[in-house]
Amino acid sequence: MEKGVPKKWGFQGNKELNVSAISVRGVFNKLLGILNKDDKRPVIRLCRADPTDFSCFKTTPLASDAVAAAVQSFQFNCYPPTVGVLEARRAIAKHLSSDLPYQLTPDDVFLTGGCTQAIEIIISALARPGANILLPRPGYPQYEARAACSGLEVRHFDLIPEKGWEVDLESVSALSDDNTVAMVIINPCTPCGNVFKYPHLEKVAETARKLGICVISDEVYGHLTFGGNPFVPMGVFGSIVPVFTLGSLGKRWNVPGWRLGWIVTCDTNAIFQKTGIVDNIKKCLDITTDPPTFLQGAVPQILEKTKEDYFSKNINIMREAANIFYDRSQDIPCFTCPHKPEGTMTVMVKLNLSLLEGIIDDVDFCVNLAKEESVILLPGVTVGLKNWLRITIAVEPSALEDGLRRIKSFNLRHAKMP
Ligand SMILES: *Cc1c(COP(=O)(O)O)cnc(C)c1O
Repeated sequence: MEKGVPKKWGFQGNKELNVSAISVRGVFNKLLGILNKDDKRPVIRLCRADPTDFSCFKTTPLASDAVAAAVQSFQFNCYPPTVGVLEARRAIAKHLSSDLPYQLTPDDVFLTGGCTQAIEIIISALARPGANILLPRPGYPQYEARAACSGLEVRHFDLIPEKGWEVDLESVSALSDDNTVAMVIINPCTPCGNVFKYPHLEKVAETARKLGICVISDEVYGHLTFGGNPFVPMGVFGSIVPVFTLGSLGKRWNVPGWRLGWIVTCDTNAIFQKTGIVDNIKKCLDITTDPPTFLQGAVPQILEKTKEDYFSKNINIMREAANIFYDRSQDIPCFTCPHKPEGTMTVMVKLNLSLLEGIIDDVDFCVNLAKEESVILLPGVTVGLKNWLRITIAVEPSALEDGLRRIKSFNLRHAKMP
């Protein structure tokens, strides 16, 4: 044996730590790895919501100017306060209050490294031995992964495709018990692409109140709607049930790499204070890294200066993409899209495998599609629905059309003979 080398190292790769197998990034990286290098066509990624791949989704220069000014001011080179820079929290409170029947204060706002870290903090703050959380199916796998890291048991309630992806409130009640801490809703809803209506959200709030649990409302796509239903923030019902609103700059400003998000308590009865959850959030923030101070410093300018026409331009592109998607997907026999996308950047389609020869499931479909057509889709199983697909439509409309054409020819090539 080599001199000085221990017989066995104390650290070993932990096979149990399989959280990235269920992450969007984990699956995306696997599919990138199996592409056919000889296919000279551009790869079309309808897999991940990163609109920065396309020039039509460039952020507003007002936002980049605000960041440059914050850097050049030399005022934001310090460590920020644990909960975030006061002016940024004040600006977010004001920004969100414009849609609420009451005023938020800076004390309601906690800054995080994107909405991803907001999820991490909120799950860590709520977790305790024996507790469980109710998550939507389909959903956003970051919640499952974080709950697994915190030892929080996950129970899934369904979103019902035939009802425009509404929450199955009966199953929410049936799943809940004395150890349930919260339910999560994502509104506008990814991956389904629907926008929840006011009366339904009110029922969600009343159900949660009856069960004595809080609502975590992931509004990272807030206001990104392009159909008939307007966006209603869950905080509107903050007097019925305590609500955590999660958000970030990433999606609406098309800067996912900037890593600035927030947790906001929408809780007019101060229940989060009284139950000690606010303290837990602060403790969790004390031991994590913060979003860069200069980004925090730029928040007031970004929120106050961004013009409505910037948002409406984005929304018009998304509306066009939704129309193209809904129209062309009708021509793909193995696809069923139960609900035309009206918000977010994603949509779910059901795969009819009985029309395909030799494709065994959604993963197999995505693997073969990537190999043969250089189109990357996300298998539905990643977001909790086997034999469905999650498709990102936040791509340049011409790329979306090209991608759907390739999917159609894949479908025809693999069609089962009658
Ligand atoms: C993208 C996304 C997030 C993560 O947001 P970041 O600000 O990029 O960290 C959280 N929740 C949902 C539903 C998302 O789609």
